[in-house]
Amino acid sequence: MHELSVAMSIVESVEEETHRAGGSSVSEIVLEIGILSGIIREALDFALEEAIKGTILQEADIRIEEIPGIAKCSSCGTEFRTGDHFTICPECMNPYTDIIQGKEMKIKSIKIAFK
Ligand SMILES: [Zn+2]
Repeated sequence: MHELSVAMSIVESVEEETHRAGGSSVSEIVLEIGILSGIIREALDFALEEAIKGTILQEADIRIEEIPGIAKCSSCGTEFRTGDHFTICPECMNPYTDIIQGKEMKIKSIKIAFK
């Protein structure tokens, strides 16, 4: 399952970040997930629940914010919302558009607890 490896790498980076800051545990993390990232939200929720067990994230609230998809036309430069990787420019009907937002998956913030 793809989401499990995503969840594990999230846990890893949060642990790293927390240790670097000298924290002892994490009370909240906020993740940003693009709707075009290919990550299935429910699967990730489930994978994270498993991945945080026994780690410093065990008690953390995990919030997920979705980022909408935006594509840019390679011909006329129009930017438009999209829920799909392959779209046609609504202005000039050019089929060559680049996704400029919505494919990312990142950790937006971490609330670290110190003893
Ligand atoms: Zn266009």
